[in-house]
Amino acid sequence: MAASPILTHTLGFPRMGAQRELKLALERHWRGEIDAAALEAVGAQLRARHWQAQRDAGLAFATVGDFAYYDHMAHHIQLLGCESPRFGFTPGTPELARYFTMARGVQTLSGHGDHAPGGTCGAGCAHAPHPGEGQPALEMTKWFDTNYHYLVPELHADTAFRLGSERLFAEVAEAQALGHRVKAQLVGPLTFLWLSKEKGEAPFDRLDLLDRLLPVYAQILARLKAEGVEWVQIDEPILGLDLPATWTQSFEPAYWQLGKAGPQVLLATYFSPLENHLRLACQLPVAGLHVDAVRAPQELTGVADWLPAYKVLSVGVVDGRNIWRTDPDAALALLRPVAAKHTGPLWVAPSCSLLHVPVSLAGEDALDPELRGWLAFATEKLDEVALIAGLLDGRVADSDPRLAAARAAIASRRASPRVHRPAVAARLEAAPEGCDRRRSPHPTRQQAQRARLRLPPLPTTTIGSFPQTPAIRAARAAHRRGVLGEAAYQAQMRAEIEHAVRKQEELGLDVLVHGEAERNDMVEYFGEQLDGFAFTANGWVQSYGSRCVKPPVLFGDVARPHAMTVDWTVYAQSLTDKPLKGMLTGPVTILQWSFVRDDQPRSRTCEQIAWAIRDEVVDLEAAGIAIVQIDEPAIREGLPLRRTGWKPYLDWATRAFRISACGVQDTTQIHTHMCYSEFNDILPEIAAMDADVITIETSRSDMELLRGFGSFKYPNEIGPGVYDIHSPRIPGSQEMARLLRKAAEVVPARNLWVNPDCGLKTRSWPETEAALRHMVQAARALRSAM
Ligand code: GLN
Ligand code: ZN
Repeated sequence: MAASPILTHTLGFPRMGAQRELKLALERHWRGEIDAAALEAVGAQLRARHWQAQRDAGLAFATVGDFAYYDHMAHHIQLLGCESPRFGFTPGTPELARYFTMARGVQTLSGHGDHAPGGTCGAGCAHAPHPGEGQPALEMTKWFDTNYHYLVPELHADTAFRLGSERLFAEVAEAQALGHRVKAQLVGPLTFLWLSKEKGEAPFDRLDLLDRLLPVYAQILARLKAEGVEWVQIDEPILGLDLPATWTQSFEPAYWQLGKAGPQVLLATYFSPLENHLRLACQLPVAGLHVDAVRAPQELTGVADWLPAYKVLSVGVVDGRNIWRTDPDAALALLRPVAAKHTGPLWVAPSCSLLHVPVSLAGEDALDPELRGWLAFATEKLDEVALIAGLLDGRVADSDPRLAAARAAIASRRASPRVHRPAVAARLEAAPEGCDRRRSPHPTRQQAQRARLRLPPLPTTTIGSFPQTPAIRAARAAHRRGVLGEAAYQAQMRAEIEHAVRKQEELGLDVLVHGEAERNDMVEYFGEQLDGFAFTANGWVQSYGSRCVKPPVLFGDVARPHAMTVDWTVYAQSLTDKPLKGMLTGPVTILQWSFVRDDQPRSRTCEQIAWAIRDEVVDLEAAGIAIVQIDEPAIREGLPLRRTGWKPYLDWATRAFRISACGVQDTTQIHTHMCYSEFNDILPEIAAMDADVITIETSRSDMELLRGFGSFKYPNEIGPGVYDIHSPRIPGSQEMARLLRKAAEVVPARNLWVNPDCGLKTRSWPETEAALRHMVQAARALRSAM
């Protein structure tokens, strides 16, 4: 192909650093150990290193503007001069200090400023600001369907925008001084507004603020141009969502203003197909379009058809959301027809920002070498982008050893017996009709379970974990380092379990748990014992602020070589006459919080996990455990970004849950637990999971969340959380009794359970005991009034 060289770039790079340098520096700064200048020096060092990595890989541009000390949306709040007035910053407060105040809140007395959203707080729940703690931080929520959380801008009817920060320009200058060809990056105005929240008394539509916002964007673009920036990447990932017509209609006029204001604009879309926005995206008055060819390869032809020939087409062929090495032949097969069709400039890139994958495979020497060869983290993905572009435009010869190496790795993964276990496949094929249904309908089971368990009305229980004390953490760490022997570790964990059981008996709870002392994390614990999972040494991904998660790598067919929880559970049950609830993580949550293989549909991988969990449930039952809880806090977050994808997803996700839950007799009671989320639009599917009991987080919504269950006439039993476990505050029994009465107005009292919102692992024992004592009092008070 006699083509001009194909340009390469990345939409963004991880910020934390290979050794999580930024995390360490941030936390030291927050503790007052280093000043802002020292923190900024670490930031500059990381940026320089990450730009250098892009240059080393041979990318045409270095991307500037993707770095953030906490979150890129928070940077945009300052760039666009729209800090929420409730923080009441006094003139002269330094920019970085204001930034961290918005990100972490103002702490007073009892305050813990750092809040934790899904999958990261330990218990895995979203935190809300706690009243009485000074000024709460900005709300945080998931960035599209990722596990990255951004700070939600707060806009008011009278919000004015202005160029409020020099940071972006300073970073551009920094990169230029290092000799980089800069592509600046911004979140687009429509995506910024879409992700913001309307605040204040006066109702208004935040889209109406667009006219005020655009001049500031134009000003920013003009500044960038004056600084000599040729290209600016403007991210508008909301083009992958279902949007109201008023929003889609706003794109064209907006980009008429911005397309001419500064450098050439590359409009970046990612995470989901463009579908009904495809033509719009292609025809916007900008110089180029980036599309995610990993999530939507089927749209490439349409894009090549609709995109005017003079525009740049940037194709994201390297998966920015997963950790697998790219198959260069597959990528080329995708790109070649596009290159033939689109006569204008073609660029090659990762599908989205590399923020969502770990930094580098360097240091992953403990991984099995074969498996390591199948992986590519951010740094390796930069090389892949360069290799694919080079092969496409002929700068790299087919005889290049890098191509041979990539092909060998792909072939090894495809054929590996560690990935493909015939017995697992055979089991899925042979799944009998009805394997995802209980033997009898819920009313029959309810009767059988009541006869067996003999619980009082409004039974009290907890969600599973008890405080992970410093002693427990220290023991686990020592055990991992090999300092604490297996027997000593086991003995200590048994002592912790006994302690938790005794406390629960003392408190008078009706259904006990073992407390999860032995578990580091609700997914990792199971992943470590199942076949098909691997763990990296340093595969950290930013979740929010300085918090990172290290998702397991689900590389192969999932099998359960041995029971995972039976010994601990049976031991705990042996200590008490009260029923003890076994505690498992559900298949959808294990899937959702891992890096998942891409060589088969997620639904199939989920089903494999489901069978492994089912075996565990059946083993617990056989060992005499009468109640098993299968946690599924991540069901809701797995929903596809587009509505059209919801039904297929919910069908397989709820089926996977049922496969895990339905191997038992009528007399065995299955619980599930979900954290705070909007349930109302998926209630039929939650009901279709057919758990005997569901516990949910509701206290912060003042039981409002339960209304939906009531009007839907949710058929099975429900435990609405009666107190918020995220706050150190100890609610009184009156307060909990009030919530319970409120619950009983919408759900028949005979179907109600009494429990906290979520697990107690992040709390201390004194507050846990006090709160649970009040909870039991509240239940008893209501019972005697029944
Ligand atoms: N059983 C888990 C616990 O109590 C549930 C955690 C969660 O919902 N994220 O910690
Ligand atoms: Zn929870």
